[in-house]
Amino acid sequence: MAARPKIVVVFDFDKTIIDCDSDNWVVDELGATDLFNSLLPTMPWNALMDTMMRELHAQGKTVEDIRKALTSVPIHPRVVPAIKTAHALGCDLKVVSDANLFFIETVLEHLGIRECFSEIYTNPGFVDRQGCLRIQPFNSSPHACANPCPPNMCKGGVVEKLLSTLPEKMFIFLGDGVGDYCPSLKLREEDHVVPRKDFPVWDLISKTPILVKAKIHAWTDGKELEQTLLQTISEICPSLLDDEDISFSQLMSAGCELQTVSTSAGYEPLNRTALPMHH
Ligand SMILES: [Mg+2]
Ligand SMILES: [Zn+2]
Repeated sequence: MAARPKIVVVFDFDKTIIDCDSDNWVVDELGATDLFNSLLPTMPWNALMDTMMRELHAQGKTVEDIRKALTSVPIHPRVVPAIKTAHALGCDLKVVSDANLFFIETVLEHLGIRECFSEIYTNPGFVDRQGCLRIQPFNSSPHACANPCPPNMCKGGVVEKLLSTLPEKMFIFLGDGVGDYCPSLKLREEDHVVPRKDFPVWDLISKTPILVKAKIHAWTDGKELEQTLLQTISEICPSLLDDEDISFSQLMSAGCELQTVSTSAGYEPLNRTALPMHH
């Protein structure tokens, strides 16, 4: 039997696992884009999402409506197989996201991959007694981080904590947004950061790559996410392949056979909103 790889893979959620921003998606699907845009200048994003959920509840929209909207989020067809393969290889998978727990769990359960993840670090999201979805900040008190992290969540703090509790593991971190820059800076030389090319985290890393100690591998879409992730796992843990007597290309094709759970909308890369960017 192959040795279990000592690898932790940390995924951002929006525009990394799924191919849109889940907050924008739900607001758009439930017809509240104009209200969202008019309130955005008046409060932080995380507080606005809670306000939006209360507004939608007052308009008669139910948690079931939100759940239904989330089942049609776009996702590249290679992302679910990539996650299933990494999990099957024994990697410890986690999500660190500035979306919220309700959105993330709903999508991961719909995709049949909730069980692949050992932990989800994100803004709390829960349904209150009135049946209204409420969203709270991850960091209940302001964090002192000087990196461009949103006020409600410093992902670097999460990664720092993971590194200190699991120092013997090698980390792979995948993300796209401004909020994914801080955790990228926390990784060590032996770790790997996998930024989405031409997205904000890539731009920030490219400006001063010397600040990043981890090895950097870019990806553009779900197909490259799969290739880069599995290639990196096999580089960290070549014995994984030796012991199983399979090659990287066989690993890739094995991944292909793991069935994709497609969302009802199918895959459709899109940029629905030209809104201010969520972290
Ligand atoms: Mg993201
Ligand atoms: Zn930070």
